[in-house]
Amino acid sequence: MDTPRRGPRGRPASKKDKNGRPMPVRADRDRFIQWFFEEIPRPGLDDAMLVSGDERFYRLHNALRDDVYRNVSPGTLCRKFGVSWLDLVSLWNRHSIYSGLLVMLNHLPRIAMDLAEDSESHDGPCPRCDGIGHVMRENGQAPCPACGGAGRVRVPGDANARRQLFEILGLIGPKRGRSRAA
Ligand SMILES: [Zn+2]
Repeated sequence: MDTPRRGPRGRPASKKDKNGRPMPVRADRDRFIQWFFEEIPRPGLDDAMLVSGDERFYRLHNALRDDVYRNVSPGTLCRKFGVSWLDLVSLWNRHSIYSGLLVMLNHLPRIAMDLAEDSESHDGPCPRCDGIGHVMRENGQAPCPACGGAGRVRVPGDANARRQLFEILGLIGPKRGRSRAA
């Protein structure tokens, strides 16, 4: 355990971690690390540590479940394995973003299909006659001049959806500009 050695004029009760964050000399009194372990749900944090690819997080994960360390605070274990506050925050940040991306990716095929379908032209009710096929004149009904009495017309695909689709495909927009410049 690191015990603060006090010189004649005393030493500050904190030092700095590897990222320059001031931290208390006693690791079990590190309130930022305490707060992290209180706030972050443990199952998710366990997953994040297990898929981190980082040996320090593997050790920390094992120690947190090890009976030998049952009376040792997370702050002390973090310091023991070289895990800083910023390491923890970065781990959780990365894990949350990847989890969110996975959720979004599951919806992506459907959204891509919607976007493509919205872009397509389709048949729809004639806006001139509201799909009835005729209009009222002074001398009575007459076939609708817009749809010829069919009640339906060709409706162009959504312009915004088309623009997005073409941009994604790199046919128009800044992507195309960049590839030209490169
Ligand atoms: Zn019409």
